[in-house]
Amino acid sequence: MASLTTDRAQKKRLAWRSAFFLLFILAPPLDILRFDLTQNHLILFGFPWTLGMSAFQQGTIDATEMGMQMLLRLFLPLALLLGLGIYIAWKWGRLYCGWLCPHFSVVEMINALMRRSLGKLSIWDKSPLPENQRDGTSIKPDWRWWVVTAIAVLFFSFLWAVALLTYLLPPNEIYSNLINASLTRNQFIFIGVGTLLLAIEFTFARHLFCRFGCALGLFQSLIWMGNKRAMVVAYDRKRAQVCVDCDTSCEHACPMRLKPRSIKRRMFTCTQCMQCIAACDATQSDKSGAGLLKLLEDQCALDVSVRDFGFKPDVPQHCFSKENAGKKRCCH
Ligand code: SF4
Ligand code: SF4
Repeated sequence: MASLTTDRAQKKRLAWRSAFFLLFILAPPLDILRFDLTQNHLILFGFPWTLGMSAFQQGTIDATEMGMQMLLRLFLPLALLLGLGIYIAWKWGRLYCGWLCPHFSVVEMINALMRRSLGKLSIWDKSPLPENQRDGTSIKPDWRWWVVTAIAVLFFSFLWAVALLTYLLPPNEIYSNLINASLTRNQFIFIGVGTLLLAIEFTFARHLFCRFGCALGLFQSLIWMGNKRAMVVAYDRKRAQVCVDCDTSCEHACPMRLKPRSIKRRMFTCTQCMQCIAACDATQSDKSGAGLLKLLEDQCALDVSVRDFGFKPDVPQHCFSKENAGKKRCCH
């Protein structure tokens, strides 16, 4: 069993992820956020978010007023959003990916289903994971789970394709056309091709996309790498002998297929999901009592970060103490 804190963190993460996934699907029909191509402007919280171009063309506002609108409605919000994104990634890395991203939700769900059907988190993994792990995970692969996996892949690909279309065209029209089976030719092609491409991506290349294909993920990783004191999964190497009789449950648990005991450069795409920490805590709950992995920041993070450059800093004594773990762990 994982410790109470890691259990609670995973429940919290699941709640955040699920809520954000719902928001991703419901934002257009609830008019929270969408770009309406038929009206050629953004709709934000039910209000049209225009830049004043048409008013300027019609001569109802002058160039200065239009400039102000562009500043207040385009450049300022973009700068604020960018600043906030940079701050979060600088301090906490790819927190958005692990705790909110609707793509990562699907990645984790398909990983779990593939584990049940194939014994591996990805069809590209060379060998299956152990059926019984030290962290208490016990899964006997069964080919019948492939049916559930295939249905889930198709359902979520379709849901994603429809949701993406509703960000561009009036959601009422799309959903009513779907219900009445009266999609226009272009709507049908968008949803059909979108579903097909997403199903291929979800089945064969979902990790690849998170690692190298997603601009948002890459942006967060690059900023995070620049801050050597940013929050990072750290390994208590002084107790490394404890790992000798473990089956590397932490590595089996990682949805991004990383090695959490490694240096930061090798964890470039870490999403701060804490699954490795929960797995290690579970392996140690009836042994040494404390896991060897923790989310640490500031001085304590240097052991993971500056080792990339050949330095071997002394890890302050307090970094892996329980008191510090309570203070430095993220999000609970
Ligand atoms: S290394 Fe740990 S925190 Fe990072 S993605 Fe893997 S399981 Fe999540
Ligand atoms: S860090 Fe924890 S889960 Fe990973 S190999 Fe060592 S004891 Fe096992």
